[in-house]
Amino acid sequence: MSIISKKLVIAKFGGTSVADYPSMLNCARIVLSNPFTRLVVVSASSGVTNLLVELTQAHVNDERRVQLLKNIAQIQYSIIDNLPQSQHLLALIDSLLNHMSVLSESLILNRSKEVMDELLSIGEQCSSILFNEVLKQQGEYSQVFDARKVMRTNDQFGAAEPDINDIFRLCQSELLPSLNNTRFVTQGFIGANEQGRTTTLGRGGSDYSAALLAEALNATTLEIWTDVAGIYTTDPRLAANAKPIKEISFSEAAEMATFGAKILHPATILPAVRKNIEVFVGSSKQPESSGTWIRTQVNNAPVYRAVAVRRDQTLLNLHSLKMLHAQGFLAETFASLARHKISVDLITTSEVNVALTLDKTGSDSSGQQLLNDALIQELEHHCNVKIEDSLALVAIIGNNIPNTTGVCQQVFDSLSEFNIRMSSQGASQHNMCILVAEKDAAAVVQTLHRDLFEGLS
Ligand code: ASP
Ligand code: MG
Repeated sequence: MSIISKKLVIAKFGGTSVADYPSMLNCARIVLSNPFTRLVVVSASSGVTNLLVELTQAHVNDERRVQLLKNIAQIQYSIIDNLPQSQHLLALIDSLLNHMSVLSESLILNRSKEVMDELLSIGEQCSSILFNEVLKQQGEYSQVFDARKVMRTNDQFGAAEPDINDIFRLCQSELLPSLNNTRFVTQGFIGANEQGRTTTLGRGGSDYSAALLAEALNATTLEIWTDVAGIYTTDPRLAANAKPIKEISFSEAAEMATFGAKILHPATILPAVRKNIEVFVGSSKQPESSGTWIRTQVNNAPVYRAVAVRRDQTLLNLHSLKMLHAQGFLAETFASLARHKISVDLITTSEVNVALTLDKTGSDSSGQQLLNDALIQELEHHCNVKIEDSLALVAIIGNNIPNTTGVCQQVFDSLSEFNIRMSSQGASQHNMCILVAEKDAAAVVQTLHRDLFEGLS
């Protein structure tokens, strides 16, 4: 019986996990310790995508451009230095680095989104080749698989949307049959449109790539290896008493990914839920320390599971007397937002006002802000627009929140010292959200964690 008909594990390694040679070696050990891990998805080495994004920016002068190219090359060469000397490998990486240089030059004349995506894809292309070499150095006959052969997307360069049906079809024909005999290393973050042009899924998109591949290959498990040992009750850098969570449901994890915890790209959960694929999140630096399992069914569903924070929020306050006893105002507003590809997180309404929060970091791969002047002008046609910045969204994540007496009182009592700019609860069983000033965010999270999780109030 073939190995993958029993079990198939997809392992994704984030940028810090493949930052350098020693980190890659840790990952190689993780891969090789599990015979069911047949497909490895990698991010670009830590920092590389940021450097590439800078290369795409219009303001970068020649001197800086050369410096950026050098920095990116250096990260690759420092890994190559630890690998057996191979002309073939050097030629492969050099040709990608040359291509990068040519693309960055062509952007000076023509700021094409398509060229930017081609440029951004170099990070993952390099890391996949290098990680494959590390596996080979450990005696594995693995191969690089070009994700663009299967990760079919639309034409929206910078924030491309995957086509799930095409990805399924392509994975089943181009990738699955070979997985029994060969381990493959592929790139996260990148895809290709129907014409084969390179696209990217947006910053942090490698998790999503891995989940889409897991879905299309009917994998049993998706492992997301990063630099933290799983999901915690809050960010341990904010609250020293944050505790690791052993097991969490998809619904809670989806809220966490959306409302803060940068540990998982928000879209990652969806493909896993669709196919009921269990997801493991752990640290490649300490694979033996337990990590978090995300599953449909969990043994324990506490009211308070975690507190997450998402900074850099913008509050859009829309005011119009037309709203008074009228219909269609929200439809018009949301149609404008949708045309500009903006998704709204929180919303509260009064008779003549609507307040919406938007994620300022909700930008495309090359960092272009979505809340632009054109959209604001469009909204101003039918209402007054006020924009507030420097806000943070704090989410209390758990179970049965709207049906548990006393939650609001406990949260608001705990935060009596802080101004709560907006709050939202009741829509989801799994979260209650409050909007606070950015400057209060850390203290709000610490206070809530102390009062709701440490039982010391
Ligand atoms: N390398 C890409 C980024 O930094 C994708 C990823 O790491 O998930 O955004
Ligand atoms: Mg990343």
